[in-house]
Amino acid sequence: MQITNVTCPVSKYSIKCPDVTNKDGICVHNTANDASAMSEISYMIGNGEKCSFHVAVDNYRVVTGLPFDRSCYASGDGRYGSGNAHKIHIEICYSKSGGQNFEESENMASAYIALLLKQYGWGIDRVFKHQDFANKYCPHRTLDLGWERFLNKIREQMGLQAQPIPQIQDTGGELEMARVYQNGTTPEPVYTDTDLTTRIGCLNPHEKVEYLSIDKGRPLVRYTVDGTSRKKCGYVAWRGRSKIEIVGTMFINMKTKTSGIKKYWKFFRVLNFI
Ligand SMILES: [Zn+2]
Repeated sequence: MQITNVTCPVSKYSIKCPDVTNKDGICVHNTANDASAMSEISYMIGNGEKCSFHVAVDNYRVVTGLPFDRSCYASGDGRYGSGNAHKIHIEICYSKSGGQNFEESENMASAYIALLLKQYGWGIDRVFKHQDFANKYCPHRTLDLGWERFLNKIREQMGLQAQPIPQIQDTGGELEMARVYQNGTTPEPVYTDTDLTTRIGCLNPHEKVEYLSIDKGRPLVRYTVDGTSRKKCGYVAWRGRSKIEIVGTMFINMKTKTSGIKKYWKFFRVLNFI
């Protein structure tokens, strides 16, 4: 693994890494860009924004840009937040378009994170995501593809046993009773909860999904993760005027990190679907 250290000028410390702080974990981001690690670090150090991170990783090398004993502005929780002040922040490159470059960058990042965990004597429980500190869907592509899947890459590097990846299992029932929901022209965010607080993904314009249930007025949909055959479930804010009639029982197990295994038992029929 090639690790290149770029030095941030001390004159920029006040806007990039204002404080000397102790660290208690690692925070993972996706760049939402298609640039290399060196470009990301050069741009980060060069600009005058309070926007910074310690490391960028692409499919070729790891580039560090800030001292690890200093804070940064990466997780949107303020100068003294537990994210900004006390985590080592790592950006995974090529996350805008995804594909092979991104996959390889994720692999490189997992190897590097495993190395850091070993150096600091930390367990896998010290790996966090930007989303843990702010209401931002980051690392977006890593989350779309599956967070536990990414942690398993790190576990593999550490010689630890992989954990089961949360997924939807069909355990029977008659899915033909499910109706199809078609999104409109704007992307539709998908959430883990009916209060729409934790975003887990997004439906593309005109994307069709299975419409499983309504809980507390929120439609629960099942959709395919972009570019993969994986399926995810979640709630959408859609405020259509369909009526739902419960006509029987459906068996779907939806497993999420927060709710554990949830069983959906309802058969339903959509009336006046528009
Ligand atoms: Zn982020």
